[in-house]
Amino acid sequence: MQEEFNFKKKFGQNFLKTDTICHRMIDVSNIEKDSIVIEIGPGEGILTNLLLENKNVLKVIAYEIDTDLEDILIPKFSNNSKLDLIFDDFLNRNIKEDLKKYKYNKLYVIANLPYYITTPIILKFINEDIDVFKIVIMIQKEVAMRYSAKPNSKDYGSITVFLNYYFNINKEFIVSRNMFRPIPNVDSMVISLNKKDRLKVNNKDLFFKLVKDSFKFKRKTLRNNLKEYDLNNVSKVLSKYNMDLTIRAEDIPLEVFIDISNNL
Ligand code: SAM
Repeated sequence: MQEEFNFKKKFGQNFLKTDTICHRMIDVSNIEKDSIVIEIGPGEGILTNLLLENKNVLKVIAYEIDTDLEDILIPKFSNNSKLDLIFDDFLNRNIKEDLKKYKYNKLYVIANLPYYITTPIILKFINEDIDVFKIVIMIQKEVAMRYSAKPNSKDYGSITVFLNYYFNINKEFIVSRNMFRPIPNVDSMVISLNKKDRLKVNNKDLFFKLVKDSFKFKRKTLRNNLKEYDLNNVSKVLSKYNMDLTIRAEDIPLEVFIDISNNL
């Protein structure tokens, strides 16, 4: 019998038992022709294997921090030139530099993430201004709820606003803890983040100030919270969405905030 891998909690190692979930993640990804996929944490390569089988994938770049997995991953994929395995901490990489040598159509991130660094991983793509077309990731269910929260709910926070500025976020499906070995203490969810094209904020500082000021006193209307702004302009934009200055920030979708800030 094959020896069981020595799982490391510090690296968030919970491996999928079967590839059913991976098939569903790839279906959700809907990968377009000539694409590159970045995978963070291939583990034993269960998802990697299916990504490599996808005919629209040119290359998979897989980052794995745990060098103990070399003995499993290298022999498993030794004759597959579609895979570039990088044994390193993903958070320390210069992604733009890593991507330089490839020519491709679209960039995808598809991964069962190490949960202890979920947000730093996503923010890395944003902060380094990497042009990612779509991100399909498995993350802790509670974190997925925060990312995809709607206004006026307890999960709504600054990370929600921030991520929703860059992406359309969809909750795809829940994954039971029993699908993993070892079994973790939390359930998981697969979410997809699709790059937003048209939501261009003209002045980011002004946009984030406007959002912050609008939420200053949560129960107050926009008219009260935005006293220092040109309320005529604000009102004009609101009227396009059948809203007026008596509305509260918690009822205003992101798109409307962007439209207001672009018209101030
Ligand atoms: N993809 C595999 C699966 O679905 O079975 C493993 C997923 S497991 C939840 C997370 C993986 O990320 C582990 O293999 C772990 O060693 C790796 N990992 C943890 N921290 C990392 C980091 N900073 N950079 C790259 N990989 C990391």
